[in-house]
Amino acid sequence: MIVAIDGPAGSGKTTIAKLLSKKLNISYLDTGATYRALTLKALEGGIDLKDASLLAQLAANLNLKLDGQKTYLDGKDVSEEIRTPLIDKNISIIVAHPKVRSVMVSLQRAVAKGKDFVVEGRDITTVVFPNAEFKFYLDADSAIRAERRFRELEAKGMKIDFTETEKDLRKRDDADKKREVGALTLSSDATYIDTTKMSIEEVINTMVAYIENRKNNK
Ligand code: C5P
Repeated sequence: MIVAIDGPAGSGKTTIAKLLSKKLNISYLDTGATYRALTLKALEGGIDLKDASLLAQLAANLNLKLDGQKTYLDGKDVSEEIRTPLIDKNISIIVAHPKVRSVMVSLQRAVAKGKDFVVEGRDITTVVFPNAEFKFYLDADSAIRAERRFRELEAKGMKIDFTETEKDLRKRDDADKKREVGALTLSSDATYIDTTKMSIEEVINTMVAYIENRKNNK
């Protein structure tokens, strides 16, 4: 069983996907972490972010291990390092290359195929697992999403500016929605949930109720 979740940054996807996987007692895959790890590797190697072929090669040889909550790159735990504003600022150009996406999509499918997984990202309901049993699209007002991202970085002790966070988020959103391949879109068969005024628990309960209901009516 695959539960596919898409949505923009700050919509609550990651927090909710993790908790939902625990509640359903199945595994969890954060595809954003795979693109973030690739971005880190490219920045470390001083690679030209416009060089799609070189980046696709880098992606194909990525020594990546995903262990539930943690991401390991070349054997090192990079879970924190991949979630900094530096990665946020550079990731959009890398993830826009169709050649890079093709390699990453194969990698993501290989991790979850044939198993029970909650998978979250931008193109999970449309490209990675278009036949997923359950599909959700989480959304929230952009001001709330920026605030959530700001609080998340602040809680990690990072010195950041709210206006800058909001600007970065808007830029990433724009790039995510406009790219040619794997763009963020609301799939016609996905359940749309606006999390702006909902607590995490309310969102989880809504999703679990939907899943249970669909399972019982099969
Ligand atoms: O989900 P998260 O914000 O960690 O993802 C980081 C970036 O990776 C996003 O801004 C998006 O551009 C990209 N991404 C993607 N496709 C996915 C998951 C993430 O392009 N399936």
